[in-house]
Amino acid sequence: METVNLHSLNHRELIEITSDKRKTIDFLQSLKLLSTERQCQCGKPMHLMKRNIPDGFTWKCSWHRCKKESSIRKGSFFEGANLGLHQILDMMYLWSYQAASFINVERECRINSARTICDWKMFFRDICLEYYFRHPEVIGGEGCTVEIDESIFARPKRSDGKILRQVWVFGGYEQQTKKGFLATVPSRDAGTLINLIREYIRPGTIIISDCWHACDRLGEEHYNSLQEVDKYNFVDANAFMKSNPIQRLWQKAKQKNKKECGTHRQMVDSYFSEFMWRQQFGDSPFKHFIEKVAEFYKI
Ligand SMILES: [Zn+2]
Repeated sequence: METVNLHSLNHRELIEITSDKRKTIDFLQSLKLLSTERQCQCGKPMHLMKRNIPDGFTWKCSWHRCKKESSIRKGSFFEGANLGLHQILDMMYLWSYQAASFINVERECRINSARTICDWKMFFRDICLEYYFRHPEVIGGEGCTVEIDESIFARPKRSDGKILRQVWVFGGYEQQTKKGFLATVPSRDAGTLINLIREYIRPGTIIISDCWHACDRLGEEHYNSLQEVDKYNFVDANAFMKSNPIQRLWQKAKQKNKKECGTHRQMVDSYFSEFMWRQQFGDSPFKHFIEKVAEFYKI
C-alpha cells in the first residue's frame, strides 16, 4: 500500500482509505499498527484468511495439518476491544483534532455508550502519558517558568489487563520550549521530591505549583536550600496567576477540564499528559499519535 501522508490526511480521505475491511487492515499494517506477517506456534508462516467475523480476516496457519487461527489484533493496540477497527481509527482521528466530544463520537463512530467513549479517551491519554514516562526532558533554566503538578492516579486497565499502574506521579511543563516530563514517585517524602526537582528542572527556574505549598511540603530547611543553593524560585499558582494570567497555561487548562468533565483529582495528571502532548505535537496530532501507538505497541 502507498504510504499515506498522515500530516495532511483529512477525515474524508481517512474514510475512503478505510472503506472496506481489507483496505482498513492494509492501512493499519502500513502504519505498523497491525502486523504484516505472523508465525504459527508450529513454526509455519500464517496467512490472512477471509472470515465472517467483525474484522473480516484472521491469520491462519499455512500447514494443512495445523490450520490454527489467530486474531489479527493480537499484540496490537486494538486487542481485546469490542469496537470495529474503523470505529477506533475514526475515534483516534477525532480525538487527535480535539473533536471527540461525546455527541461527535456517538454520531460519527456510532458508539452510543458514554462509558466506552470515556474509556477510549483515557486509553488515548495513556499514550501521551507513556510518551512522557519514556521520553522525559530536563527543562527550565535561568528565568524560565515551569508549571509542576503532583498527584496519584490509576492508569486505565484494558480488558486484556495490559496496562495497569497506580502510582504517584510528578510532572513539569515548560511553556517556552513546550517540553515536559512525568516521573513516577516511589515515595512522597521531601527527599524524593527534592531529587526529582533537581533531576528534571534546571537551577534558576521559576517553579509554579498549586498542588503543594513548597515550604510545607519540603520542610523549611530543604526549601531554603533549594531557593538559595539551586536558585529555584517557588511561586504559588494563584498568586502567579494574578500577575501573569497568560503564562499559567496548565493551570488554566486544568480549570477548564474540571468545568467540562468534573475531572477527579486522580485523573488530573492523566490530563496533564494530554495537555503537554497537545502543546508539543499539536501541529500534526494524528500523525504523531499514530507514531506513538506504533512505538508503544510493538507488533
Ligand atoms: Zn501452525
